[in-house]
Amino acid sequence: MLTFENVSHTYGVTPSVENISIQIRKGEVVSLLGPSGCGKSTILRLASGLEQPQAGTIMLDGKVVASEGVFIPPEERGIGLVFQDYALFPHMSVRRNILFGLEGVSNGMSREQKEARVNSVLDHVDLSGLGEMMPDELSGGQQQRVALARALAPEPRLILMDEPYAGLDSRLRERIRDDMLHILKEAGTAVLMVTHDSEEAMFMSDRIYVMRSGQIEQAGRPIDLYCRPHNAFVAEFFGEVNRVEGIIEKGHLLTPLGNFDIPEGASGRSASLIVRHEGLVIGNGDKTNAEVMETRLLGRYSLVHLSMPLPKGEDLHLHARVPGLNMLSPGQKVTLSVDPSQVFIFTQGSR
Ligand code: ADP
Ligand code: MG
Repeated sequence: MLTFENVSHTYGVTPSVENISIQIRKGEVVSLLGPSGCGKSTILRLASGLEQPQAGTIMLDGKVVASEGVFIPPEERGIGLVFQDYALFPHMSVRRNILFGLEGVSNGMSREQKEARVNSVLDHVDLSGLGEMMPDELSGGQQQRVALARALAPEPRLILMDEPYAGLDSRLRERIRDDMLHILKEAGTAVLMVTHDSEEAMFMSDRIYVMRSGQIEQAGRPIDLYCRPHNAFVAEFFGEVNRVEGIIEKGHLLTPLGNFDIPEGASGRSASLIVRHEGLVIGNGDKTNAEVMETRLLGRYSLVHLSMPLPKGEDLHLHARVPGLNMLSPGQKVTLSVDPSQVFIFTQGSR
């Protein structure tokens, strides 16, 4: 549905995105995930035709829309847009906002057909009956659904969404994104969305592109990225981690948390061990190696702060995340180990 081939774009001096290749298939929901300023919105602007790339080729449904000497303007691309601030017209009713989305793109439709389409998308986003309301009479979640209805009305082949839930408070956000995912999947529209929140990306996406500094770090299904990150940056983007330095001896990484096999092809004398907070296992064996400093209940899980004395004198400060309420009290001696499936080793060469 959408293909970028070696696309680069520079606004000023330094490139905002460099040599980007991505692909979104029919009906697929794909996220661009990365920190602020890494170039996510630029990719959406290039896809929609708000910017023209300096290099590379962009194709929509097999047709070149941007390349050297080719540029198809935004209104001819058949793409729906949903932004963080919804961009609803405040002086127009919900119905007229959605009708506006049909102007220009659906020239062949009669007035009646347009009205029927508006009713059908309103129904689709569960807002029938609210067509005559003004945007400021609606909640944030309802406004977001109007924005989605407006984008869906012309039946675009692709919808681009830029941080679509950022304006909603966290509890509403979870419900709205669930609604949105069901609506989008039912409509079968391909979606490229932008977020800096890894949980949101995992919730919404069939596939994710993780970005850093204008480039793609890693692409894959949520499970691939979470379970097999290629580097520390990707691992750390998908959840809180402990980072412990170790030294390499005879094919093993020696760390205070135990000794680990070195991945094939790794070289060097030292490496970082990355352990997710949920990958640290607190046991009560005879051989204790750490002490509980504090436990905080955070709702669905508790965060345990631990201190592990090192031979050289200083202490290693570690975080463990355990389900539910944890009754460990400060000063308690425990045996720490790690869940091997939540551990990643990256040598100094990897970023
Ligand atoms: P993200 O959406 O990931 O936060 P953006 O794509 O908005 O990142 O920005 C990527 C880079 O391009 C940033 O360094 C940003 O400052 C720069 N940039 C974005 N838009 C413009 C613009 N209109 N003019 C100049 N620089 C821009
Ligand atoms: Mg952005």
